[in-house]
Amino acid sequence: MTDIEELLLSRIRDVADYPEPGVMFKDITPLLADPAAFTALTDALAEISVRNGATKIVGLEARGFILGAPVAVRAGLGFVPVRKAGKLPGATLSQAYDLEYGSAEIEVHAEDLAASDRVMVVDDVLATGGTAEASLELIRRAGAKVAGVAVLMELGFLGGRGRLAASLAGAPLEAL
Ligand code: AMP
Repeated sequence: MTDIEELLLSRIRDVADYPEPGVMFKDITPLLADPAAFTALTDALAEISVRNGATKIVGLEARGFILGAPVAVRAGLGFVPVRKAGKLPGATLSQAYDLEYGSAEIEVHAEDLAASDRVMVVDDVLATGGTAEASLELIRRAGAKVAGVAVLMELGFLGGRGRLAASLAGAPLEAL
């Protein structure tokens, strides 16, 4: 493990049975409160974005906003929020996806993504991959290209990487 990986891992707090029994919640607030760790994380996600030729960063509500915005500034790229349904005031594209119980819907302002864009999706945790998969669908429906998905953590046992394979279509999924 590299020094940066060790630093990041040491600042993630495991909270058992939150928000419901059986879930081990990965709390990144200690990492955000540590300037060295937050800067190292921002730099690493920005490096992935630049290396893969991204022109825009999409952040997934809500922790993807906290990480994605400084990554976009660091990489010199624009930031586009993907929000839960009903929060964006302009003309949106919407994408519904299945949760374990029920479904959810996310939206993006269609005008924020152009055909010339290559988009890197940034979030804190990749779990089942449902949210990231729906965001990749939104990006394609907006006519833009997918540069990849960059996350702090991948919970490998939930199989998100496999779920994303088709929508990534060869683009990378990088987890720090
Ligand atoms: P999923 O769509 O299942 O990949 O879930 C991803 C979203 O839920 C991300 O935006 C995460 O912030 C959040 N999430 C899912 N599981 C966890 C977990 N164990 N700890 C922290 N956040 C999680």
